[in-house]
Amino acid sequence: MNTHSSKKLWVIAYLIYIITVSLVVGIEYHASLKKTLRLIDEKLTIAIKNIKYILPAGYHDVEVTPQEYRNVTRRLTEASYDTGFKFFYTVVKGEDGNLYEASSSEFDADEHPQYYSMYENPDPMLVRLLKEGKKDEVFFQYNRDREGDHRIGCIKEYSFAGKPFLSCADYDMSVMRRELRVSSVRQLIYYLLLLLCVYPFIWAYREASKFRQMQLEHDVRCRTAELGFALKTAERASQTKSNFLASMSHELRTPLNAIIGFSCAMKDEAFGPMQNKQYLEYAGHIHTSGEHLLTLINDILDLSKLESDKEVLKAQWTDMSAVLKECLEIVGGYPTAGEKKIEEKISYNLPRVYVDARMMKQVLLNLLSNAIKFTPAGGTISVVMGLSKEGYFFFKVKDTGIGIPSDKLKLIFEPFTQVENVMTRHHQGTGLGLALVKQIIKYHKGEIKVRSELNSGTEFTVFLPVELIETKDGRS
Ligand code: ADP
Repeated sequence: MNTHSSKKLWVIAYLIYIITVSLVVGIEYHASLKKTLRLIDEKLTIAIKNIKYILPAGYHDVEVTPQEYRNVTRRLTEASYDTGFKFFYTVVKGEDGNLYEASSSEFDADEHPQYYSMYENPDPMLVRLLKEGKKDEVFFQYNRDREGDHRIGCIKEYSFAGKPFLSCADYDMSVMRRELRVSSVRQLIYYLLLLLCVYPFIWAYREASKFRQMQLEHDVRCRTAELGFALKTAERASQTKSNFLASMSHELRTPLNAIIGFSCAMKDEAFGPMQNKQYLEYAGHIHTSGEHLLTLINDILDLSKLESDKEVLKAQWTDMSAVLKECLEIVGGYPTAGEKKIEEKISYNLPRVYVDARMMKQVLLNLLSNAIKFTPAGGTISVVMGLSKEGYFFFKVKDTGIGIPSDKLKLIFEPFTQVENVMTRHHQGTGLGLALVKQIIKYHKGEIKVRSELNSGTEFTVFLPVELIETKDGRS
């Protein structure tokens, strides 16, 4: 991660923190507001229930003098100040149908000596409460006007003479709201200060991470250098191995060819009959063993070349059906081939594939010779070649032979692996054939699959990638 994107991450982290904190403070503000409102309503209820005791007895039943009215408004004013309310007032309905009030804020007694002062634009709920409300029924509501932000509470009562009136109180909410807002801002500041307190820890962690990263980078550099050195050593060793194998195989092949050639001449009695038949038998053994040794040496050399990527793929557009026919002719001459039925099914008009023909021939020969080797007399070997539904080029060698136990299936592609069975005891083998096949297919970026059932048969399928198949315009 570069410095620019790391800075971006830090900014995003701070923003997330600030947004979260603001949300928490907002939620806290609303919860406190609700709680305070409940308390205010409780306070309002007590206050409005007590207003009737502030008024003189029978106040609503008689006509009052301006002096009495002034006394009442003064008492209401004092009581509202003492209890922290904005207004205390009482409301009655006049004979003209309008509402009149005596309020802690009223001082115009001369204008309305009888029923105090007119209550202008009363809230419909207030009118309803006075008209239809039951005794002691209460009513709360907010009132936001130019005089401020109020919570109004009213209760319906009856005078001695049975006249309905309302006792009301206004609570100034603006102070409470201001207090709540101040407390929220304070909380926000605390959270931001908390971030400042935590910052030294974040800084220390970042520095420690940087140090750890530097250390890791140093370790990785050291390991890379070590691995590079090990790789060079391995490459040198592999080179030495290849050189050794190449020179050894050359050194071994020359005398071997002489052994094979001379033993062949002797067993065939090319220069006249042998006196002792025992020598004839020995010459035969020498010839077979020599040929086996030559196959082994050739296989080892081929495999080591493929494994060390020394082998150069001599790929060319190849008609695989022709290669297969050539292989079938060769294996047809194997000693036990005549005892088995060999079937072939080659799709018509197969495209050419871009492969190393010599290597593919070796693959087919190895698979076919194994099929012949591990199928008892009377069995069938079938070869199929064509294009799969997915568009891969494939060939399949299937036999009705002895099969391979499922636990050994994974091992057969390992060099020098031979599954111990009746056939392997009777037939010679190097245990390198399938390892070579696998390497060759891998070299062509293809795939080999095997399916086998003990005593029923084995099926090897080779898939070659689509890129190796010739298209109509002559290219892959
Ligand atoms: P080998 O020279 O022994 O044939 P391979 O590498 O070709 O070596 O095969 C390895 C082993 O896999 C064989 O020894 C045999 O046990 C088993 N195997 C290979 N092909 C078949 C087959 N068609 N049927 C049964 N077993 C097989």
